[in-house]
This record gives sequence, C-alpha cells and structure tokens, in this order.
Amino acid sequence: MAIEIKNLTYSYPNSDKGLDNICLHIKKNRKTAILGKNGSGKSTLLYHLNGMNLPKIGSVKVFDLQVNKKNLKQLQKNVGYIFDYPDYQLFSTSVYKDIEFGLDNYGYSSAEKIRIIEDISKKLDIEDLMDRPPFHLSLGQKKKIALAGILVLEPELLLCDEPFSGLDTSSLKFFKNLLDQWKAQGKTIVFSTHDVDLTYEWADDVIILREGRVINQGTVEEVFLDEKIYEKTDLEKPYLYRLFKDHSVLPRSIDEAVEIQKNMKIVEE
Ligand code: ADP
Repeated sequence: MAIEIKNLTYSYPNSDKGLDNICLHIKKNRKTAILGKNGSGKSTLLYHLNGMNLPKIGSVKVFDLQVNKKNLKQLQKNVGYIFDYPDYQLFSTSVYKDIEFGLDNYGYSSAEKIRIIEDISKKLDIEDLMDRPPFHLSLGQKKKIALAGILVLEPELLLCDEPFSGLDTSSLKFFKNLLDQWKAQGKTIVFSTHDVDLTYEWADDVIILREGRVINQGTVEEVFLDEKIYEKTDLEKPYLYRLFKDHSVLPRSIDEAVEIQKNMKIVEE
C-alpha cells in the first residue's frame, strides 16, 4: 500500500472543516484521482500526504512511514508535490537554477547535477529554456519546469494538485504521456481534479470527496459503472459513460470510442 489514512480530521484556524474523518487506502503503482468540486477538501488532503500539514486528529502513513515531524525529511525525499499554480514553486532567476535547487538539498556532486539536469531537459523538451527566467514563460512551460524540478529527485510518489488545469490539447497530451511513462517505472501518482471525464479516461482508481468526506472509493470501473452512485450523490456521469453505457464494450478514451464506432459500422454493412 502507498498510503493509509485513518480517521483524519482537519479544521482550519478559522474553524472551516477541511477534512472530516477520512479513512482511505491508495495502492502503489496506480494513478489515483481525488475527485471533488471546489472546496471539497482535495488540496487539504494532498497537503497531509507530504507533511505540509501534519495530522493532529487521525493518522497518515505513506509507504509505511508515519507522517509526523520526525519523519518529515525522509518523507519529502520520497514524495514530490506539484502545485496547481506553478508560480508557487518557481522562484529562481533561471530555469536551470530552479531545477538545480531541489538537487542542492540532497548533496549531489556538480557532475551528477549537470548530467541529471541535461537528462530531464531533453525528456521534457525544455533545453531552449534553461537560461530564461521562469516567470517570463507560458503556463504550459512553467508547469514543465515545476515538474522537472520534482522529477529530478525521483520521488516514489508524485502528488499533483489539478495537474492539467489551463493546458491546451497538445500540452495536455504531453503531460499525460510523461506521467504515464513515470508510472511505467513503478511510481505512484495521486492527483486532484474536479473533472469527471479526465478521471474516467485517465485514472486507475478514484476517491470521491464531498465537504471534506470520502463518499466513494474504488477502481474507476467500480465507481463509475455503479448506477447507484449517481442516485446517491450529485456526481456527473462522464460523457463516454453516458454515450456507451448500453453497449457491450465501454470505451475509456475517445480513441477507443472511435474504434468501437468503426467496428459497429463494419458489422452494420
Ligand atoms: P479543494 O482543493 O477541493 O478546492 P480545499 O482543500 O482548498 O478544497 O478546501 C476545503 C475547505 O477548506 C473549503 O471549505 C475551504 O474554504 C477551506 N479552506 C481551504 N483553505 C483554507 C484556509 N487557508 N483557511 C481557511 N479555510 C480554508
């Protein structure tokens, strides 16, 4: 198990309840979506997974390590956090220095740092940006730099707060592919989103939050193919599910849907 949370409750100082008695498990080497509307507690939950917030009521374990002050350094080496707005993460005068900053905290030699930064800049296609100040870049470019600064540390668990918000179609495809490659190396991805279609198409598992409570969790199939969930909650049905729910095969992506429709036409002819 990658994450185990027991009875986690968190209230903000103004007494807004961020999380209310959360119990959940997140499996290793899966892409898990934390799905919920604005204000449902997604970011507050993610803050508890890398120790930005330390649990006061209830407990959080990440890779069998209790999230507490004593374990913070070890935890943060294993857990990378990507903010929804990259500006929260980027502050150096050049892209190179920003990516190098994380490595500086972990005692890499100069030669190692040069090699690692060269590798990531090729992988993310950001070689031309290395001398530019991050705050002059586009949102998609900033998101790449923020991700590069985390991926160089090779965390086992990647936490992404609304990772795809504001991206155009080709950037979205690029980021999804990159994270899929990351998962293929055995890593675990947890991301927050309000987007049911993205979750249906791209996640393996889903945890649905509402008003700081978990209202359902399971694989995408277990959660979205259970009609009762739509009766019990205000969860929107994903477009692909609405279009194909009466078919024998349910596509999980537009490409799969196109294939199914082509095959249906062939059978009809
Ligand atoms: P989401 O990420 O799903 O939009 P959040 O975790 O940001 O939700 O917020 C959950 C709840 O906690 C909301 O009611 C929100 O108003 C409240 N909240 C979030 N951040 C703060 C804060 N810094 N101070 C007080 N209340 C907050």
